[in-house]
Amino acid sequence: MNSRVARTPKGRRAGMILVQSRATDDAVELNILVLPGDGIGTEVTREAVRVLERVADRFGHRLNLRRALLGGAAIRETGSPFPPETERLAREADATLMGAVGLPEFDAAPPERRPEKGLLALRRALGVYANLRPVRAYKALLDSSPLKNRLVEGADMLIVRELTGGLYYGTPRGVCGQGADERGVNTMTYTRAEIERVARVGFALARKRRRKLVSVDKSNVLETSQLWRRVVVEVSKDFPDVALEHLLVDNCAMQLITDPRRFDVLLTENLFGDILSDEAAVLAGSIGMLPSASIGDRRPSGAWAGLYEPVHGSAPDIAGRNLANPLGAIGSAAALLEYSFGLCEEAAAVNAAVEKVLDAGQVTADLRPQGSPFGTDAVGQAVASLI
Ligand code: NAD
Repeated sequence: MNSRVARTPKGRRAGMILVQSRATDDAVELNILVLPGDGIGTEVTREAVRVLERVADRFGHRLNLRRALLGGAAIRETGSPFPPETERLAREADATLMGAVGLPEFDAAPPERRPEKGLLALRRALGVYANLRPVRAYKALLDSSPLKNRLVEGADMLIVRELTGGLYYGTPRGVCGQGADERGVNTMTYTRAEIERVARVGFALARKRRRKLVSVDKSNVLETSQLWRRVVVEVSKDFPDVALEHLLVDNCAMQLITDPRRFDVLLTENLFGDILSDEAAVLAGSIGMLPSASIGDRRPSGAWAGLYEPVHGSAPDIAGRNLANPLGAIGSAAALLEYSFGLCEEAAAVNAAVEKVLDAGQVTADLRPQGSPFGTDAVGQAVASLI
């Protein structure tokens, strides 16, 4: 499947412009692979697709959707969490929209037969090394956060997490030995090039925001963090208009809760980013609110290689009950329109519709502890109808 994108968003490598919006009178071919995955992944991607269909209809674009298996669903069907057919389709698509992976039945499976392995392999295959996680405290949801309103109100940050390096991919890894000598090993490793490319994404995005970047590491203990800090300082010289600050990850974890408004762009490595972004979810009221965009280098077609997925997992505790909050997945679809296709006006229309739905209180139960009459599908329909 070749993408025929009508006009290519232009970007530059150093001091890169990540997105340039395009004129909306262009009809754009949206070749998108949908990977619903497991659990609530299937429910929330259904709503994100509903929203994309509405956008295509309303703005006159052509939506070409393909679907494939990933995670536990793929293991059941094919024996592999990331079947070759899924990899082929993901490489061909202009962008991939993913739900979530993970099923309790595979919790005790060997590493290569675990659903999460499929997601890691997908990220690696697409070369998406920068994971962008916007976190906003929506006014309508201030009371949904367990934190005091005065702390949370106005918080608006972008977490840029390195996604294809560090502890999750480093070798050697595994469990060996027996008895008291049984040993688990993981390796945290980063190259200069891996740090530099994600740092450039972070600085470029800070330029489009409030021009403040906090780089998070553990350089008082870890050599990988010492290299991280050195390379980030070097990259910062190309972005003199962005204020750079360094924070140790433990201090950052505390300040995310005690003073979240101080953060604009937060740049960090894979493991720290994984943990800090879940922590930041409390600012948004629910983990179901958080979208993410993972981008790599540009494709020959000109589009960014992109993988878009909500931050949350497959939530087996609520799967199949129409309870899941689809707004993280819908926000991910908005990010897909913006980053992979340069359709900024369309993305803004989706985000505005989400805000209206929140203001109207049409939210799932995770945002209303006393219960909600709005299920996953009703929230998705409400957003689509407002575009
Ligand atoms: P989880 O994010 O699935 O769920 C954590 C809690 O948040 C649960 O109580 C869940 O009900 C709730 N929740 C999550 N998303 C929600 C939504 N959209 N609406 C309402 N409530 C929501 O994390 P977990 O329970 O630690 O992991 C469950 C499975 O998901 C595991 O197999 C794990 O490996 C996998 N996982 C996958 C991803 C991914 O696919 N990107 C990310 C994290 C965890």
